[in-house]
Amino acid sequence: MPENIPRVVIVGGGFGGLAAAKALRHTRAQIVLIDRNNHNVFQPLLYQVATAVLTPSQIASPIRELLRNQKNTMVLLGEVRAVDKDGKRVFVTNVDREGVPIEYDYLILATGSTHSYFGHDEFEEFAPGLKGLADAAAVRNKALLAFEQAEAEENPSRHRDLLTFVLVGAGPTGVELSAAIASLIRKTVRSEFRRIDPALARVVLVDGGDRVLRSFSEDVSQAAKKRLEKLGVEVRLGHPVELIDGHGVVVAGERILSKTVIWTAGVEPSPAGKWLGVETDRAGRVRVQKDLTVSGHPEIFVVGDTATLDQDGKPLPGVAQVAIQQGRYAGRTIQRRVLGKSDLRPFRYFDKGNMAVVGAGFAVLETFKSRIRMKGLLAWLAWAGIHLQFLAQANLRVSVFLQWVWTGLTRELGSALIVNFHASERRKPMPDAPHDAILGKSGGSLGTGIKGPYDQPGRSGQERGLGPALT
Ligand SMILES: Cc1cc2nc3c(=O)[nH]c(=O)nc-3n(C[C@H](O)[C@H](O)[C@H](O)COP(=O)(O)OP(=O)(O)OC[C@H]3O[C@@H](n4cnc5c(N)ncnc54)[C@H](O)[C@@H]3O)c2cc1C
Repeated sequence: MPENIPRVVIVGGGFGGLAAAKALRHTRAQIVLIDRNNHNVFQPLLYQVATAVLTPSQIASPIRELLRNQKNTMVLLGEVRAVDKDGKRVFVTNVDREGVPIEYDYLILATGSTHSYFGHDEFEEFAPGLKGLADAAAVRNKALLAFEQAEAEENPSRHRDLLTFVLVGAGPTGVELSAAIASLIRKTVRSEFRRIDPALARVVLVDGGDRVLRSFSEDVSQAAKKRLEKLGVEVRLGHPVELIDGHGVVVAGERILSKTVIWTAGVEPSPAGKWLGVETDRAGRVRVQKDLTVSGHPEIFVVGDTATLDQDGKPLPGVAQVAIQQGRYAGRTIQRRVLGKSDLRPFRYFDKGNMAVVGAGFAVLETFKSRIRMKGLLAWLAWAGIHLQFLAQANLRVSVFLQWVWTGLTRELGSALIVNFHASERRKPMPDAPHDAILGKSGGSLGTGIKGPYDQPGRSGQERGLGPALT
C-alpha cells in the first residue's frame, strides 16, 4: 500500500470494528484491522452452539475472508495491549512477537466486552460464561458430559444433582440458554438416553432482580417468564447467587446441588479505557463525545460495548445494533475527514427494537419504542429472519436455515460432540474396583466403585476435559 495516505487502525473485528472497516472500503486510506481472534462471531446465536443445535463454524467467519475483496484493508492477527496516544501508536502482541508498534493517523477501538463476575472471580472456575466460540463449546461439553455421567450412574438418587442445570442471570442470554437446555432435555435426553428420566432434570434460572428480561417492558417479561415455566424452567427471582463452588450454588441460603452452572449475569468492557488513560464510567467503559471520539483526541474513536454515551438521559445499551451503527458512523466520519469534508451531525442511535427467543417457535419482541409488542410464533419468525439476515456470510445463512429446518423436523442436533475428552484418560478405575463391576457383567451395573470428577470438587474445567473444542 502507498505510504503517503492516512492509516486507520481498527482494533477488534466484531460488530463495531467490522462495520467501521466496511464503511471505509472506498476511502483512500490504508486500513489495518487487528483482532486477537481470526474470526468474527455472531454472538446472538452462541447459545445454540452451547446447546449443540449449531456448530461453531455455522456462526463464525474468518475476518480475512470477510474483507478479502476490500483492497485497502489489511487484517492482522494480534492482541493490542497498549496505546501511546501522543505517539499515535498501538502495541500489538502477535503469534511470535510482543509489543510490536503500529502507527496510526486515526484509531478506532472496538474491543467489546467480556463477562464480569462482579468481584467474584473465584466463581469463574465453576461457572463458565458465554462470550466466544471456545466458551460455547466448553458449555456444550459440560452439559453433554453431565448427561453422560447421569446415564452411567446406577444410583438414581444422584441423577437429580447431575441433571440440575443452573443459569445465573435472567437477561436475554440466560433466558435463551435456559429455554434451549430445557428443550434439549425434553427432546434429546428422552430419545437418546436409556437410564435418565428427563422428569428428574432441573433447569434453574436465578436472578437477583424482580423479573426476567429487565430491558423489556413488564408484560413482555411476564410472557417470557410464563413461557420458561411452561418449558419446565424454575425461575427464581429476587435473590442473587451467594456462592458458586464445585458442588453447585447457594441462593437465599439454600444449596442447589448442580454439576452444570453457567454464568450469564454481567459483562465488563475491554481495558481500552486503561490503555487510553481517559474518563470511563464505573464499569470501565470509555466516555465518548457525541462524535464518538475521546476528549482531546479527535483522531481516536471508541465504539460498541467498550464505549458509553448517553442519549435522551440514558446510556446506550450494549447491543449489536449500537456497535454496528457506531462503527459505521466512525468509519464515515473518518472518510469525510480524509476527503476534507465537514463532520457528520452528532451520533444518534436508531433503536430498531429488542427481541429474545424462549425455546423453539416462541420469541418476544418489542419495537417502535415499545409501541409494538409481539410474542409467540410470529415474533419467533421475525427473530429467525432477522438473525439469518445478520449472519456475516451467505453460506452461513443457508447452512443455519437448513439446520433449523432439519432439527425441527428430525430433532437431530447439529453437533452433539464432546470434544477433547477421553473418559479413560481422566477416570482411572479405583485400584480396588473389580474389573467385572466396571463393565457391568452382573445385573446391568455400570461403573460401581468408579470415582468421577463429580466427586472431586475444585478441579478446573480444563482438567475435566472442558477446554476449548471447536468442532
Ligand atoms: C451470548 C451473547 C448473546 C448476545 N445476544 C445479543 C442479541 O441477541 N442481540 C444484540 O443486539 N446483542 C447481543 N449481544 C451483545 C452483542 O453481541 C454485543 O453488544 C456486540 O458484540 C458488541 O460489539 P463490539 O464490536 O463492541 O464487540 P464484539 O462484537 O465483542 O467484538 C470485539 C472484538 O474485539 C476483539 N478484541 C478484544 N480485545 C482485543 C484486543 N486487546 N486486541 C485485539 N482484538 C481484541 C475480539 O476478539 C472481538 O472480535 C450478545 C452478546 C453475547 C455475549
